[in-house]
Amino acid sequence: MNAYIAVDMEGISGIVISEQLLHGRLFYQEARRQLVNDTNAVIEGALAAGAAEVLVVDAHASGFNFIYEELHPAAEYIMGGAHQQRFPFLEGADVMMLVGYHAMSGTANAVRDHTMSSASYQDITINGAPAGEIMIDAAIAGAHGVPVGLVTGDDKACAEGRSVLGDIETAQVKRALGRHAARMLSPQRARELLQAKAHRAVARVREFTPYTVTAPVRVRIRYNSTDLVDRMYFDGSACTKIDSRTVEYRGDTVLNALSTARLIQAYSAPGQADF
Ligand SMILES: [Zn+2]
Repeated sequence: MNAYIAVDMEGISGIVISEQLLHGRLFYQEARRQLVNDTNAVIEGALAAGAAEVLVVDAHASGFNFIYEELHPAAEYIMGGAHQQRFPFLEGADVMMLVGYHAMSGTANAVRDHTMSSASYQDITINGAPAGEIMIDAAIAGAHGVPVGLVTGDDKACAEGRSVLGDIETAQVKRALGRHAARMLSPQRARELLQAKAHRAVARVREFTPYTVTAPVRVRIRYNSTDLVDRMYFDGSACTKIDSRTVEYRGDTVLNALSTARLIQAYSAPGQADF
């Protein structure tokens, strides 16, 4: 039983403002410790439930947020920027866990709601359905035959996870009151919860099915500004301009459509940061 863990930062316990999320900002170093402690709790739960191998990808912004020296000794880690795939070495995993995730852009009262990039994207749909990062990442995992068994984050991220993926495990480490406000569990209780839910997700692994998207696939992105659209090349078949700020990308598989939309590569957003 191999577990693959993708770790974002906005849905980590104790994280609520942007100063915790960006290199060089006042609270970033402290937030990295919270990130590692939550991640270690999930790894511990997965191992205790029988996971033989745990691979963890740092999936927030630069891909370099973990404090290496403090990472759980029994897992391996993918760190750093600009690799071709969003989730390298996903093949052969039995379950994926989305840790520290957040609700899609436009969700009311959700900590740092966005989809891929607050700077670039207003919203994204897949075959007409509103798509946040939970759906996009579940679709990538699903295309590799890997089901998502756990989503962790605030109450809105957990609800989004259940609405997209059905009866999976969720760990709600905070209740959001706004984009930059939440009622928090204590760090200790948040980590106990993360460990317990990761344990359950691995124990229930046979109940989960990979998330699939019906082909052919249409990915529509509404950008924040017209200049982000102006720099696109429209070939009329895989990529069409819908209006001044909206582009539709098409593919015969979800991976092709996401790739044409440049949503599958790490650090592919036309803007700067990914949050
Ligand atoms: Zn992030």
